[in-house]
Amino acid sequence: MGPPELGAHVAARHYVRDGRRLVVLHDTRSEGIVELDARGWALVAAADGTRDVAGLVRAAEHAGQRVPAAEAGRFVAALTAAGLLVAASEPARAAAVAPAVSGAAADRPVEALPDFRLVCDGQGSCCRSYPTTLFSPVEAARARALAPEVLDGGADAAAVFTPERGARVLAGHGYAVAMVDGACAYLAPDRRCGLEVAGGPAGKPLGCRLFPASFVDDGVRVRVSVAPECACVLASARRGPAADGMGLVPAGARLRRDLEAAVAVTELPATVVLGAGTHAARDDFRAWCDALPWAGPGWRAVDVDVPAALWVLARQVETHGLGPPGALPGGGAALPDDASFAQLRAALADAVGRRQARDARMRAAHDLVRLGLGWLLRALGRLGRGLEPAPRDAVGEAFYVRALGFGLALTDEHVPLALALRDRALRLWLARALAAELAGSGVALPDPAFAEPIALVEALLRGHGLDAYRAAASS
Ligand code: SF4
Repeated sequence: MGPPELGAHVAARHYVRDGRRLVVLHDTRSEGIVELDARGWALVAAADGTRDVAGLVRAAEHAGQRVPAAEAGRFVAALTAAGLLVAASEPARAAAVAPAVSGAAADRPVEALPDFRLVCDGQGSCCRSYPTTLFSPVEAARARALAPEVLDGGADAAAVFTPERGARVLAGHGYAVAMVDGACAYLAPDRRCGLEVAGGPAGKPLGCRLFPASFVDDGVRVRVSVAPECACVLASARRGPAADGMGLVPAGARLRRDLEAAVAVTELPATVVLGAGTHAARDDFRAWCDALPWAGPGWRAVDVDVPAALWVLARQVETHGLGPPGALPGGGAALPDDASFAQLRAALADAVGRRQARDARMRAAHDLVRLGLGWLLRALGRLGRGLEPAPRDAVGEAFYVRALGFGLALTDEHVPLALALRDRALRLWLARALAAELAGSGVALPDPAFAEPIALVEALLRGHGLDAYRAAASS
């Protein structure tokens, strides 16, 4: 093999756990992880396909780490056998940068979820709920200049940032920031963004400035909805559109062409998979979402039990396609007593359990993600024992489906609509069960992020790739 390179499927991440720095290699194909000490990381950080083992030893020495050549050779061989180091690839493998939007798509109007403005609760939940935060190269350079003291990143970029994947930052990709006890390294102790404090809103990366907005081009307009992944999203929905809240659409963006090129706009595919062998056209799916009972303004889940309704809709979609929704179950509906529910719940419990065991190696006990995974397991156990979840949260659940429906996010390209609807139903029941477990524990909230259980469920499932459980449940 020629000079080794960290594989493009490998994500190297910096963590600080209880004051101890570590680097972990995540194999995104197998979900396996390998923890490196400072000497191992000095070798791997230099493995960009331009150095043989002797070159890696010299680079490590340059970085202040002495590694004997024989030991380095064994180390490289072990990582190669594990599939983490690979033969250097051609530079041409760099991903193409998406072209600027043009033609009719550029003139599509941008439309925000009505009656919603976001008020941040200042608890930094969104800065502590995800595996990392991505920065473009320019954003990373700006962050290091604004807050050079953070992990000494001003002097050493590699101490606070690693390439999103592999050993090099490819075109269209960026850097992953280090996580300190589960929080973005730039989150200050008072839970304010240190970059915003130092440089105003423009100091933050674009993803943080836009969060939690989602952008979907449905072929007619660009819908801007909100991902219900942060407690302040649900809290904002409960208080109604506040004058001091932030709009979802960037200032001045009237048409798609007005959005910054780096804004990720999802294109709704021309066909949507409904179930086994059945499809629907994009226009029909859009019309169906807009005709759901919660799509109208001011809808309240008074007479409808939302997760039970999603479960019934899934069956209707499988049997009749995208017809008008029939009768939907009212409040007080029981948990489903069928194999699909048991199968989905078990698959999710398995995924959460494996992730919790894996993450315990790099996450401190008070890390929000670790806490959240533990409580999710308790809630899943409650559902498995058939214990009643907490009373329904009519306002929160109504907003949840309204936001997802407007954003055409009730499904995605990875799963058929029927399965996606059951998944969303399970998440809502899980949120109720989590609320019941918290109430029954007799202790105060473990973290402010638990104030809105469905938001925590959403952040953990999507943010940590746990939503892949759906594929396991359907196979
Ligand atoms: S950059 Fe600021 S807003 Fe973004 S995750 Fe880090 S602390 Fe939070």
